[in-house]
Amino acid sequence: MSFSDLAQELTLRKQQSLYRQRSVLASPQQPEVVLDGKPFLAFCSNDYLGLANHPDVVDALQRAANEFGVGGGASHLVNGHSHHHHALEEALAEFTGRPRVLLFSTGYMANLGVVNALLDKRDAVFQDRLNHASLLDAGLLSGARFQRYQHNDVAQLAARLARSDARRKLVVTDGVFSMDGDVAPLPALCHAAQEAQAWVMVDDAHGFGCLGQSGGGVAEHFQLTEEQVPVLVGTLGKGFGTAGAFVAGSEVLIETLIQFARTYIYTTSMPPAVAAATCKSLELLQKESWRREHLNALIERFRAGAQQLGFTLMDSQTPIQPIVVGDADKALKMSEQLKAQGIYISAIRPPTVPAGSARLRVTLSAAHTEAQVDRLLAALESVR
Ligand code: PMP
Repeated sequence: MSFSDLAQELTLRKQQSLYRQRSVLASPQQPEVVLDGKPFLAFCSNDYLGLANHPDVVDALQRAANEFGVGGGASHLVNGHSHHHHALEEALAEFTGRPRVLLFSTGYMANLGVVNALLDKRDAVFQDRLNHASLLDAGLLSGARFQRYQHNDVAQLAARLARSDARRKLVVTDGVFSMDGDVAPLPALCHAAQEAQAWVMVDDAHGFGCLGQSGGGVAEHFQLTEEQVPVLVGTLGKGFGTAGAFVAGSEVLIETLIQFARTYIYTTSMPPAVAAATCKSLELLQKESWRREHLNALIERFRAGAQQLGFTLMDSQTPIQPIVVGDADKALKMSEQLKAQGIYISAIRPPTVPAGSARLRVTLSAAHTEAQVDRLLAALESVR
């Protein structure tokens, strides 16, 4: 069998400026990276606090690897649940103020696992139309009645909830939207859900570490209780600087996931050394509040500078600062021109974002300096 129709599809993608390509990174995750053999100042990492390459986190990983080896070796329910995993779950439960936490190997798997453990075809799932792909996939896979509401439109959500006679209703939203950087209106959204006796699931992949006094994300920012947000998901590959994900909630929720979440049951546990490294990064994330303060100052600096240059930004006070370009081809060209000046920013194009809203997705990190943000602004001025 030939792949000629696949090859045609690929050619079409190239013609539409939608072709995705990888670069090879030959340095740690930090502002100054080496990509495809060339040095760049990068503004596209999700390592928001600069912990991915922190010496204490690296040291914790090395020590645990010396003690426990590399591979998890088995799933959590066989004999892959090490004391490092267990200690991290307990530390995250305390951090989030929730009774229990369960680790997953990735955020994608956490989202698939949770929604599919909670819902089936008798149920309904309500999702913001800009939710992360893993949440949308999770809803579709569950077989539950799938309804999308307009971005952050709580009134539309409430109307849909009121019309539903499903057995279980689950409202699912990103905490901080991954491509726009804005924050979900959670107090109002939780109120609407409570009125309709629906559960709320928040994926705060981009909020943990960045928002809240001690980095507790949107739940801390809005002081949301477990009753308001019974299902709280965080990922560890972003603000925490490591890898994996967790779900925080009640005893009953976590036991339900252990029994029914297939992406938990049927996969190898994350390497125990990664769990040990995450315990260290959790400690730094909470303790070193200067990282959040510095990051917020950089966000202000970038926004003021980019707006002065006449760029269209989005309504975001988070490290995700998209510059809206519109046309996919133009976004790609701008990203190439910036690359020629040694600045690396990814162009985000449809279908990842809605048609006509291609953008340069600038992400800032506490590891950046003010001088580096100024260099970015100068480069942006030249490609304006
Ligand atoms: N949720 C959101 C909102 C995300 O942005 C991402 C990662 N891009 C994920 C989930 C998936 O997390 P992971 O990378 O750990 O699979």
